[in-house]
Amino acid sequence: MRVFKFGGASVKDAAAVKNVAGIITQFSERPLVVVVSAMAKTTNALEEVVRAWPINKALAKKGFQEIMRFHADVASSLFDIIPAKLAAFFEQLETETIALLDAMPPATFGEAYDSIVHRGELLSTQIVATYLQESAIDASWIDTREIIITNNAHRRATVNWETTSVKCKEAIHRPMVYVVQGFIGSTPEGVPTTLGREGSDYTAAVIANVLNADEVTIWKDVPGVLNGDPKVFEQSVLLEEISYREAIELAYYGASVIHPKTIQPLQQKEIPLHVRSFIHPEQRGTVIQKGLLLKPLVPCFIKKANQLLISLSTRDLAFIVEEHMQAIYSIFSTYGVTVNTMQNSAVSTSFCVQADPLVLPEVLRDLDTHFAVKTNAQVVLYTIRHHNAEARKAVVGSQQPLLEQITRQTYQVVLPA
Ligand code: ASP
Ligand code: MG
Repeated sequence: MRVFKFGGASVKDAAAVKNVAGIITQFSERPLVVVVSAMAKTTNALEEVVRAWPINKALAKKGFQEIMRFHADVASSLFDIIPAKLAAFFEQLETETIALLDAMPPATFGEAYDSIVHRGELLSTQIVATYLQESAIDASWIDTREIIITNNAHRRATVNWETTSVKCKEAIHRPMVYVVQGFIGSTPEGVPTTLGREGSDYTAAVIANVLNADEVTIWKDVPGVLNGDPKVFEQSVLLEEISYREAIELAYYGASVIHPKTIQPLQQKEIPLHVRSFIHPEQRGTVIQKGLLLKPLVPCFIKKANQLLISLSTRDLAFIVEEHMQAIYSIFSTYGVTVNTMQNSAVSTSFCVQADPLVLPEVLRDLDTHFAVKTNAQVVLYTIRHHNAEARKAVVGSQQPLLEQITRQTYQVVLPA
């Protein structure tokens, strides 16, 4: 059994949906689970609807109707006449959502968010499943809310592996194509939840894990995993093979290849993950699996912009000791600030963190009650895995690093913007 995942870009319009159907036809193995994200920028548009809901119901409803119109337009381009079942689904979803938006939003933002945002995947998968059926492919639409069961931590729900495993096995076993929504699930009571932005990769990994799939393929608009974002680093090369361990490291340092949580469920069952191009499905792309660290073994570059460098020292020039560290990390953890890199000296310590304007003023205020605080705003953090002198020089050039960390495998440098 295989699992395919198609992201928002791969189903962004009617031509893209046809391309997806073409790829599915080329692979004859069944059962095939096809996990699909919301079309194009639908999730962002749904987030806008949620934001407007408590303030301006008319605006929220108008926003949702525009999303419906977009999907209806895609369907009109795919079918001479929109199949009755699909039309009925659209109509019911719209009526239900408008009624919801007419009422008061649920008490918590998270519940309000999930109640609206999960609808993007319902729409995209209905279109894809209907198109496959109309193209005489034996395909069935699955309501993921019935098979991915989570806790009620809205917007970042945790999967209940036991129930999910039972439900997935019940629903998916025949030799056919199953079209499944990525990113969404529900509580045991049936309240919709989501798994975190860009969570569809994770859905594919969860289903592959519980069904012991042979492999997972993520179809993307890039040839595979590259050794650096081609928009940032010139001359990036395709990585043919990456070990699970190395993929986790790359994701940890901020490579935007795959959702960081995706690897673990696959590694656990040693299920290979392929990353391939939906534009060039004949190419092999990248495989992440047990084995070779990296092939070819080249430096990998990761850039994180919009960082803040925070330097703390004790006011009386006392040594920074364990108690200070404990106080600092407790402040970071209270506000959910992740440290991307750090460095210590006798009387000072520096941290590079994501510049989140929502929490940083308070973080800095709290730190200031214990330490003398200095900051460098808008700095950039570069990480190079498998670095060498040439790679380091390519990144740093003649700039003066604000902070530098070097281990055998990993080089990190904080540079002024
Ligand atoms: N549609 C969701 C998002 O845009 C999930 C995904 O794309 O993986 O975040
Ligand atoms: Mg998406």
